[in-house]
Amino acid sequence: MEDVYNMPTRVTLTVDLDADGKHHGYACVPLSVDESAWGQVQLPLTVIKNGSGPTVLFTGGNHGDEYEGPIAQLQLAHTLKAEDIRGRVIICPCMNLPAVQAGTRTSPLDGGNLNRVFPGHPAGNITQQIAHFVVRELVARADVVVDMHSGGKTLDIVPSAVMHRTSNAEQMETTRAALMAFGAPVAMVLDEDTTGMLDAEVERLGKTFISTELGGMGTVTAERVDITAMGIRNILAHFKLTKDAVVSPSKPVRLLENLSRDLIHAEHAGLYEPLVDLGAEVKQGQPIAHIWDYQTAGCAPIIYYATCSGMVYVRHAPGLISRGDTLALVAAEA
Ligand code: CA
Repeated sequence: MEDVYNMPTRVTLTVDLDADGKHHGYACVPLSVDESAWGQVQLPLTVIKNGSGPTVLFTGGNHGDEYEGPIAQLQLAHTLKAEDIRGRVIICPCMNLPAVQAGTRTSPLDGGNLNRVFPGHPAGNITQQIAHFVVRELVARADVVVDMHSGGKTLDIVPSAVMHRTSNAEQMETTRAALMAFGAPVAMVLDEDTTGMLDAEVERLGKTFISTELGGMGTVTAERVDITAMGIRNILAHFKLTKDAVVSPSKPVRLLENLSRDLIHAEHAGLYEPLVDLGAEVKQGQPIAHIWDYQTAGCAPIIYYATCSGMVYVRHAPGLISRGDTLALVAAEA
């Protein structure tokens, strides 16, 4: 098997990742297409470093239609000063820039779903080259990686910091403490298949990896951007890059867990009618949604039920639903 980890990146940098001070620049991925023979995809990058200390890497735009992370990270890149920290903060707010430009989950250049192609390949398509660069140059320098997601255009998710169940108890404890410090309404322990995800690459290296799901529906709210920005500041405080105290949210963080079997998929197409809203507490077996066959007069709705007692943590976003779409996810207390 090829050792992609030791293959050099083809991505070039206009910013020195290891220099003290605050530097803005780009990671330039070579692009050769009909519209641009010797072109580049230029991923914005900010590096803020002051002496020795831990390195925290913030990434966003892994999927291009998830906006809370990129907005809060652009705020951070704009406002954080080198003298505010000890250590290093690397901010890559729009990792899959072509997808962010298009407002889509995947890249319009090659159809790549960035979070399914890690560790990528330096000779692959643009999406694979981005993945390889992120692992080889950014993750390699980081002690802590915070990759910010949300539900995108097709899902809405209770704002949360997310971790995976792993076999490394010490790594899990460090991560769980960071999740609680983040201070989003929910801290979620997920069981999911992480094949091809950035998550798996960072966890494999024994580093601290925090993901987030901060909302969705292809837009943001003021409250959710505030939650995200507070989470970022809390992570910097928790890992002692700043001298700030971790700010506690107004309501205590709920620690929930989800087993992937709890995901409810639609087995019918039609109009999606939620019977309870996102964040509602439900009992196992309680009706939570209808799907209406809008092409047939006089028919009854199909009823979908909560698979366990807990919080409606994820819901389908658009009014129309197709067979196979995620309809909802109810998460239980951990
Ligand atoms: Ca995502």
